Amino acid sequence: MTAKEFLQECREKEIEFIDFRFTDIKGVWHHVTYDIDAMDEEVLANGIPFDGSSIPAWQPINESDMILKPDFEIGTHFVDPFTADPTMVVFCDVYNTDGTPYEKCPRSIAKKALKYMDELGIGDVAYFGPENEFFVFDNVVIRDDINSQCYEVDSSEGVWNDYADWGDELNIGHRPRTKGGYFPVAPTDTMVDLRAEMVKVLKEVGLETFVVHHEVAQAQGEIGVKFGTLVEAADNVQKLKYVVKMVAHLNGKTATFMPKPLYGDNGNGMHTHQSIWKDGKNMFYDPNGYANLSDVAKKYIAGVFAHADAVAAFTNASMNSYKRLQPGFEAPNILAYSAKNRSASCRIPFGAGEKSVRTEFRFPDSTANPYLAFTVMLLAGLDGIKNNLEIYEAAKEPLNEDLFELTLDEIKERGIRTLPATLREAIYAVEDELKDPNSFLKPVLTDEFIKTYIDYKYETEIIPVEGRPHPYEFITSYSC
Ligand code: GLU
Ligand code: MG
Ligand code: MG
Repeated sequence: MTAKEFLQECREKEIEFIDFRFTDIKGVWHHVTYDIDAMDEEVLANGIPFDGSSIPAWQPINESDMILKPDFEIGTHFVDPFTADPTMVVFCDVYNTDGTPYEKCPRSIAKKALKYMDELGIGDVAYFGPENEFFVFDNVVIRDDINSQCYEVDSSEGVWNDYADWGDELNIGHRPRTKGGYFPVAPTDTMVDLRAEMVKVLKEVGLETFVVHHEVAQAQGEIGVKFGTLVEAADNVQKLKYVVKMVAHLNGKTATFMPKPLYGDNGNGMHTHQSIWKDGKNMFYDPNGYANLSDVAKKYIAGVFAHADAVAAFTNASMNSYKRLQPGFEAPNILAYSAKNRSASCRIPFGAGEKSVRTEFRFPDSTANPYLAFTVMLLAGLDGIKNNLEIYEAAKEPLNEDLFELTLDEIKERGIRTLPATLREAIYAVEDELKDPNSFLKPVLTDEFIKTYIDYKYETEIIPVEGRPHPYEFITSYSC
């Protein structure tokens, strides 16, 4: 769609405001609004100026002028369902004032990665299908009562507090127990109407939804959204988070995509299905391969596994992310592939044919910036294909057993690899990439961006979380 057609659509829909949105490094969606009367084709073509120094980890104050360029081509713009006056939201890429794409704009980085894939001749389309799980809470109360609990979470499905100390206040009438949410009907499931409302709004903003359900943990839900091309799928994650949070908010509740809010119960994943297509053909399909997987797909998996430590810094981008990846909660950290097996970090959905064969990486979560997470997984996979990598020895064949049952000794003895245990370790791996001139990241990410990402994660995640005594440490250190 051209700018002219876009303005025509705005007129037809009697739009009064245009809302320009862009995503920062963390994945936060920002916006600036213009009166439609101030808009014409020329303004849209020149772009919208804004202050890049007020966005975390972007520009210094003396170089703060940046430009937002609306993207009409992908067609993900939508009428905001939550504003009082008709407002058209349009996704933007960030540009420098000299007209070049900004090296720290995640959406521009994603587009650069697609260009790189095309140049390599490996594929012309990359499809991504993320599954963003979420919780809906009434309240999250942080307490300083260190002898009993550090925080308490209220939901319509009960009250949950840390350390599994339910006290004597628990109402167990029609409440799902730990891991009991998948998926008894109402009244145990209290979120039927709320999810339905979310789905209706998601449709209004252009998302195609399918499965809608309660998830395993108390107060946890999931709404399946149709896969899309890399940038489209990442745009859809931003829309999904916006709609889910807004609908919950308007119902007096709080939705969170945080990976592990509840100790002892399942967390929120962002499983990501992926496939690469060329000339209309799914490059991951081979009817003679295990679970219909082609060699190209296996090399892609090999690349993601080979670079998993650095990949994790982007797909599991918070300190909280690593609390989710503990064995036993359907969020595997074991680098293995297998059809049907939800304890392997790469599941090959069962029975998928020519059009639908894909890899489902199960470790990512929604604290990832979707543009960066998809880009970095793609780059790791492309590196595997380009360099004919093979999946490492211990996981070369599919591992079909329950991998959560393995002891740490068994994992070690068999040479099975896992994801890093902390964000710090993942960031160390990114530091190694920065030093490596042939790093898989460098065809697309600039050194300046990689450096910024590392510093940003130390400053906003690693140091503040590591440096704070956790209330539970008063229990472990009690006798000291
Ligand atoms: N909630 C699980 C996770 O953290 C996934 C459950 C599922 O298989 O959908 O990844
Ligand atoms: Mg799920
Ligand atoms: Mg899944």
